[in-house]
Amino acid sequence: MADTLGERINGLLRDVPDFPEPGIGFKDISPLLADARAFDEVVDGLAGVARLGDAEIDLVAGVEARGFLIAGALACRLGAGLVPVRKAGKLPPPTLTRSYDLEYGSAEIEVPSGVLDGRRVLLVDDVLATGGTLRAAAELVGQAGGTVTALAVIVELGFLGGRDALNGLAPLHSLLTL
Ligand code: AMP
Repeated sequence: MADTLGERINGLLRDVPDFPEPGIGFKDISPLLADARAFDEVVDGLAGVARLGDAEIDLVAGVEARGFLIAGALACRLGAGLVPVRKAGKLPPPTLTRSYDLEYGSAEIEVPSGVLDGRRVLLVDDVLATGGTLRAAAELVGQAGGTVTALAVIVELGFLGGRDALNGLAPLHSLLTL
């Protein structure tokens, strides 16, 4: 029997122990991106998710940095625009900024001003871990006047409970849950 998309994704992830810090089991999507057919299927899978709701999507927002790789391809597939959600200090002003808590310390993300107001947005990233980054990104899109209609990731690390952290924001779709 043919593999499901989830199984194919799982077969093309590289597990990197203790990266970028001791204790983190990093899921490297590089082999997946480098496989033309699998990458195409992933973009198709995420596009299918985007089309599930009634609402048309105006923009795909991708979270720095690996979210950009998916968001660009996905935006083209959907006929939507693209917005980068960047780490603070990378975008030229004017920007809107949001701080959020990490396990140790805090981080800041930014979006360009003026492109999100009144737009319907699909927010994407490669991996959902604790959910803190995606929650902050969704809140920032809202702060900028956009409406997040759905959240989508390739891989959800279910054991980290990120889905619960995103409760009440928008429907979350993942192509593979580990
Ligand atoms: P989160 O804990 O959900 O806020 O994850 C923060 C960011 O780090 C996300 O953009 C993920 O892409 C990335 N990330 C976190 N944990 C992992 C992991 N185990 N493997 C790959 N990427 C990760």
